Amino acid sequence: MQLELPLAVAPVTLPAGTLRYIQLGSEVVGYRFRRARRRSIGMVIDDDGLRVAAPNHAPIAEVEGFIREKARWVLKKLSEWRAAPKPPLVNWSDGSTVALLGAPVTIALLPGERGINMENGRLGIGLAPRGEPAALRKRAIAWIKEHALSLLGERLALYAGRLGVPTPTLSLSSARTQWGLCREDGHVRLNWRLIHLPLRLIDYVVAHELAHLREMNHSARFWAVVAGLYPDYKQARIELRHCNHRLPIL
Ligand SMILES: [Zn+2]
Repeated sequence: MQLELPLAVAPVTLPAGTLRYIQLGSEVVGYRFRRARRRSIGMVIDDDGLRVAAPNHAPIAEVEGFIREKARWVLKKLSEWRAAPKPPLVNWSDGSTVALLGAPVTIALLPGERGINMENGRLGIGLAPRGEPAALRKRAIAWIKEHALSLLGERLALYAGRLGVPTPTLSLSSARTQWGLCREDGHVRLNWRLIHLPLRLIDYVVAHELAHLREMNHSARFWAVVAGLYPDYKQARIELRHCNHRLPIL
């Protein structure tokens, strides 16, 4: 048995269906259309924009009529969706920023230097001669993962001590769907993307997974163990739910 701490939002996958367009008032709206075994036409607006599913027998004119009937709702929801904050895309240029431990860190490209270091809120990345931008990004991500592993290892050891258990073995995950996971054999996996979040949220995930060493479930007894390790866990849980959208794309 293993327990995972899921991210609040479904993983990023390409939406299924054909891309179609429809004119609604003065706007041309794109949507993903798919046929499904269902009785009625359904519509949803999520991270991928507007998606429409229709029964196999429904003619496309009927589908479009349905969307037009709901045009006001669609346009309102789409404008809300466009205005919602999107995850920042890190472009690895000099002066751009990336969130580490919940704070923006400025990227500085350093010609003639080789290594990567972080000092005073600045992430210095050596620009090796003839270094390709793609290689620079790869090196930077590798550095961030290494940094994540050592920090998460420290926090795990700290909280394991508080719980009075031996520090579990740790590995990093890159899952798009979970922050952490605890196996019954005591092995803990933590998402390296946690490094983007404030330390207090990282600590909550660490405390949560460690508490599973005592209770392999999410019972009241489990939450009592969490509370003993991390009293403000309710607030952290709420905050964590809103983090997925803000995780930078490296
Ligand atoms: Zn759990």
